[in-house]
Amino acid sequence: MADTNLMPIAGQIDPVPTARDITPREDGRVDLIGLPPARIRELFEEAGLDTRQAKLRSKQVYHWLYHRGVSEFEDMTDISKTMRPWLTDRFVIGRPHVVEAQHSTDGTRKWLLQTDDGHDYEMVFIPDADRGTLCVSSQVGCTLNCTFCHTGTMRLVRNLTPGEIVGQVMLARDALGEWPKGKMDFAEDEDEAEYRADGRLLTNIVMMGMGEPLYNFDNVRDALLLVMDSAGLALSKRRITLSTSGVIPMMERCGAEIGVNLAVSLHAVNKDVRDEIVPLNRKYGLEELLQACADYPGATNARRITFEYVMLKDKNDSDEDAHELVRLLKQFNLPAKVNLIPFNPWPGANYECSDPDRIRSFSNIVFEGGISAPVRTPRGRDIDAACGQLKTAAEKKSRAQRDREAAAAETSEA
Ligand code: SAH
Ligand code: SF4
Repeated sequence: MADTNLMPIAGQIDPVPTARDITPREDGRVDLIGLPPARIRELFEEAGLDTRQAKLRSKQVYHWLYHRGVSEFEDMTDISKTMRPWLTDRFVIGRPHVVEAQHSTDGTRKWLLQTDDGHDYEMVFIPDADRGTLCVSSQVGCTLNCTFCHTGTMRLVRNLTPGEIVGQVMLARDALGEWPKGKMDFAEDEDEAEYRADGRLLTNIVMMGMGEPLYNFDNVRDALLLVMDSAGLALSKRRITLSTSGVIPMMERCGAEIGVNLAVSLHAVNKDVRDEIVPLNRKYGLEELLQACADYPGATNARRITFEYVMLKDKNDSDEDAHELVRLLKQFNLPAKVNLIPFNPWPGANYECSDPDRIRSFSNIVFEGGISAPVRTPRGRDIDAACGQLKTAAEKKSRAQRDREAAAAETSEA
């Protein structure tokens, strides 16, 4: 369970090794959530079941975990009464701990979550008329320091594990009451787990929460493979979008090994501005990035790449910028759509959002260039759930504030 390898994570300038393990459970039991089906079978064998039993039991357990969403072995009714305590003694079915759940006036919901080893992270659910989108985090914090992003002001604490990533989707299904009900026989109604727009609240997933998913590639891939597995959560890859700030070396593998829709945080059309606001650009430049997008496996006119563009007043929002954006996307012959995101403010940010007229003019130019460029309506601003506002409560306090609190606590104890 604990993976103690050091993973090279590119920082602004040089790769920094970052521990990606989690604290093993004190009771020695293994959390099954996040493990691939073959690994569950192996663990059952290692714990003493013969090959045939391990195969059968792991298939049953997997179905209960990911198709039915049960969180207690006792609820697995087609597993014998003697087997259930055997499982409970050795394994657990983990869920992220909920520290706080908030509801926005516009229906957006935000959960502050905590890992077993005490780190906070967040997930956001955004309901719309025709879909419900879960915005999932991939890391606690981020190494990349984009200047307009609140998460970017946090240091990277650690990568989330596959279980903590897929656990967000499972927790959302718990909260929304969306596990299939009905007969407990798992040979039947296999298609019941298909996520469909009709009748379901959670229909889409975006890897756009805290962190850079392509700097936690293995864990994000393993989690999304579980989310897409037709025997389990069964969410189609067409309903999943991974957003990257432009980690070029991992983009091809993302297409080949995960195959989800790609969104790229472009935000600027020339080197100087992008170097400043997305510092990763100093390492992986704009033209190289657009070429990697053109090479992205699976990008077609039917499955276009989304280019995210945050609207920052007097920084990247001129008509010339809009024309240059169209020119670049055409130069690389990209099946593209542009998502214009009004800048969401956060305390201490050095930017302002562009004026509505400016955003409209920018959007019109891109549309006239033949590329769709809707303006995204900010959601959940009142609970700090909008793009780029995620930053966990513990981290929100400045060091000075924490020092003051510590001093006050010491004084009151004395
Ligand atoms: N790290 C990944 C995914 C998470 S950020 C990435 O950068 O793509 C999700 C999107 O929100 C990105 O496009 C990001 O640039 C954008 N964003 C960050 N801060 C924002 C802010 N304050 N206002 C609006 N959008 C923001
Ligand atoms: Fe990290 Fe994305 Fe925020 Fe940049 S925009 S700091 S990559 S989370």
